[in-house]
Amino acid sequence: MITGKNQIGNTLSAEGNKVYRTFNPVDNQENSWEFLEANSEEINRAVALALSAFEQYRTFSGKQKGAFLRLIAEEILELGDALLDIYCQESGLPQGRAQGERGRTVNQLLAFADLVEEGSWVEASIDTAIPDRSPVPKPDIRKMNIPLGPVVVFGSSNFPFAFSTAGGDTASALAAGCPVIVKAHPMHSGTSEKVASAIIKAANKTGMPDGVFSNLNSSGPEVGKQLVSHPGIKAVGFTGSIKGGRALFDLASEREEPIPVFAEMGSINPVVVLPSALKDRSEYWATQYAGSVNLGVGQFCTNPGLILGIESIELDEFSKNLGEKLISQNSGSMLHPNIHSFYDQLKSEFSKQNGVETVAEQSANSKPNVASQMVVKVKGSTFIENPTLHQEVFGPFSMIVSCKDESELITIIKELEGQLTGTVLGNDDEIKTYSVLIDALQNRVGRIIFNGVPTGVEVCPSMMHGGPYPASSDSRYTAVGTHAIFRWVRPFAFQDWPDELLPEELQNDNPLGISRLVNNTLTRS
Ligand code: NAP
Repeated sequence: MITGKNQIGNTLSAEGNKVYRTFNPVDNQENSWEFLEANSEEINRAVALALSAFEQYRTFSGKQKGAFLRLIAEEILELGDALLDIYCQESGLPQGRAQGERGRTVNQLLAFADLVEEGSWVEASIDTAIPDRSPVPKPDIRKMNIPLGPVVVFGSSNFPFAFSTAGGDTASALAAGCPVIVKAHPMHSGTSEKVASAIIKAANKTGMPDGVFSNLNSSGPEVGKQLVSHPGIKAVGFTGSIKGGRALFDLASEREEPIPVFAEMGSINPVVVLPSALKDRSEYWATQYAGSVNLGVGQFCTNPGLILGIESIELDEFSKNLGEKLISQNSGSMLHPNIHSFYDQLKSEFSKQNGVETVAEQSANSKPNVASQMVVKVKGSTFIENPTLHQEVFGPFSMIVSCKDESELITIIKELEGQLTGTVLGNDDEIKTYSVLIDALQNRVGRIIFNGVPTGVEVCPSMMHGGPYPASSDSRYTAVGTHAIFRWVRPFAFQDWPDELLPEELQNDNPLGISRLVNNTLTRS
């Protein structure tokens, strides 16, 4: 059963008067459940509870936080197929995707549990005193990461599990020791409510303080704005549009106490196709890219929206091949009618620009909200001159840019906005031959891929999912993988503090057995 209420700490609450529903894009009708948007008092209550929970939660051990995260994963699985059904009804995404994304979400929670249970993530660093150092004695200094405080997480539209209520932002913030208030995405408030109930169950069973987690409903910008402006909130996680992310970033910067906003926003993920890839594996890459562009109905942040090559008969053949393969794939329903109409609007805007040639477009689908795949092509000079063509078209769309030579290709790369990923298709020798181009690409992206597709983001410590603005608001941090935890902490140093009063992570005996930098040497002793 879905209550439509806000989860404020352990209590369900419905005091507001703004009612809304989610939408089933496949059936093209509203879902039956009604949700009540959180009002100002409810928002204030959630923040006050999070602040009081923080006083306790910040002191909890890695083992306690790990047990909480593990149980969240279990409780989510415990919700069974009923949860997957709600996900599908609110997103239009198929059951297989729901299942896969739930698996990823559960694994993310477990990865953060492993991380905090092991404990070395706090980056403990110890410089012992040298009392007889001349001319002045050296004090004893010990540093480790500590949590920032209550975090607001904006659920994303395109990952109702993995980047939403119990997604990577929430899991990493809870692992860091920060209470979380989720601003549920209005497109999947039912999914969010059910996942929130799993988090609350886990919190209660593992003795977490009331307010360690809240989930608020909203169908417009007010709830998010009030949360980000609230003095009790110390950081924000966001996945969505550049417009939305930037508005929240500006709002957070204008506060009396500015706070960090870790926004993961737009990216067109350039792919550079070097001559050998077109000569030796053209057919293969056309197949791979047709699948990648259409994956998740093109609604992935790593969707390859820009394919760059040097003009040749081989590039023309590749374009034709990619177009044919893309439109021969099954089309899927987009997440919401608004996202679908925005997709159609941008496709039509692109087609009307001078010099844009349609390589292939699937004929309009008779089913509502189903996206028609499309590939267009332009010359390098046209792309350079027209900033409209640099925008992200969120959906199964890609643009091939045919450059007159390597120098034009490099100019394009240098002028690109920041991107999550850049991909190079070619052979090992070309990496050396095109080193200037590859250096330019490295300067614009967060992750560079060789002979692959950018979709499919591995969750592991070495993953980098972020990039220069506007791919993300802070290119120093990743939103995926266990290092995402570093967004929610600050380094803190103790000077000449009594050993027995230090946190265990910094005590002489190293009771947790974690890896630490002691007098510049990494050691567990
Ligand atoms: P969005 O419009 O940026 O909204 C994301 C979340 O932020 C929503 O919860 C929204 O709340 C909130 N929000 C947006 N602007 C706000 C503001 N000015 N003040 C306060 N809160 C604000 O993104 P979306 O709904 O996920 O999708 C819309 C478009 O975003 C897509 O068509 C696509 O272009 C882009 N997108 C890109 C990616 C990517 O990874 N590159 C991912 C998802 C979406 P309310 O809706 O309640 O106002």
